[in-house]
Amino acid sequence: RAKGQPDNRIAFFEQSMADEAYRKLVLEEDLRHALNNGELLLYYQPIVDCSNGRVSGFEALLRWNSPQLGMVSPLQFIRLAEETGLIIPIGLWVLQQGCAFLARLHRAGYADMLLSVNVSIIQLLQSDFVESMWAVVRDAGIPPEHIAFEITEGLLMETFEANSEKLRLLRQRGMKIHLDDFGTGYSSLKYLQNLPVDLVKIDKSFIDELEGNAQTVPLVDSIIALVHRLGLQTVAEGVETGLQHSRLACFGCDRIQGYLISKPMPEEQVLPFLKAYKPRQDNK
Ligand code: C2E
Ligand code: MG
Ligand code: MG
Ligand code: MG
Repeated sequence: RAKGQPDNRIAFFEQSMADEAYRKLVLEEDLRHALNNGELLLYYQPIVDCSNGRVSGFEALLRWNSPQLGMVSPLQFIRLAEETGLIIPIGLWVLQQGCAFLARLHRAGYADMLLSVNVSIIQLLQSDFVESMWAVVRDAGIPPEHIAFEITEGLLMETFEANSEKLRLLRQRGMKIHLDDFGTGYSSLKYLQNLPVDLVKIDKSFIDELEGNAQTVPLVDSIIALVHRLGLQTVAEGVETGLQHSRLACFGCDRIQGYLISKPMPEEQVLPFLKAYKPRQDNK
């Protein structure tokens, strides 16, 4: 039987590759229809200002409610959307929906609220990126200062730098640029030096270790101090415990976001959430 084993393994491997390819094909076909069939939706996760404990705004997070697959995580389909170019119409839709949401929030009496929208590098590479984003924000009639684009440092950072002029143009018109998942890519500091950004989001992986890893405490403290010295603000993402929050507040982190405050929620829960929200007491 020993001789048969490698063959079985190969057969299994080939089968799983075929499954994977098939899965991807089905997923691509489904995703193509998702946008037009109203299967995409946005959830909103609050971000809290550490200086006063108040909600300063929300991050829009994409969800796909597929009749075949159920609720699909963006981690499972953003990559595919990027590979197929579908991220371009999807990204535009996200900004339109997000801006419409923010306009409703402002009209409901929360005129200070900010909105962050994730933007893929594939969108940024389009020659009409700046104009198409700007047109959506302008047509929505919201102050451009209330919109931030979150951009992840990733594989395409070389092109990112070449495209930093586009980020500059967006900032000239008032919109903010936030560097997402900071600290996970290579040579992050290089980008901080060269990219036109307003704020840095410290990756959840650092926040996770704030309690368990003794080295992480001075590391996060120093990242925040460094970012401040560059004249930029900081958000900590993925804050789940009161201890993480109080340490971050101690370090002077400007804002926090995470399950400690709230999970991402559908729009109908946002106003009830804001009405019920009480600033946390473990702050400082
Ligand atoms: P991200 O932009 O870094 O968003 C933060 C992710 O962490 C979200 O996952 C959020 O639900 C999750 N999160 C927030 N707080 C906590 C916490 O306390 N604990 C834990 N365990 N998780 C927390 P989500 O919604 O699954 O999104 C994953 C990623 O997909 C995002 O990471 C972003 O890179 C991408 N993404 C989401 N929406 C869009 C979009 O509209 N366009 C693009 N291009 N990418 C998107
Ligand atoms: Mg983000
Ligand atoms: Mg992030
Ligand atoms: Mg992240």
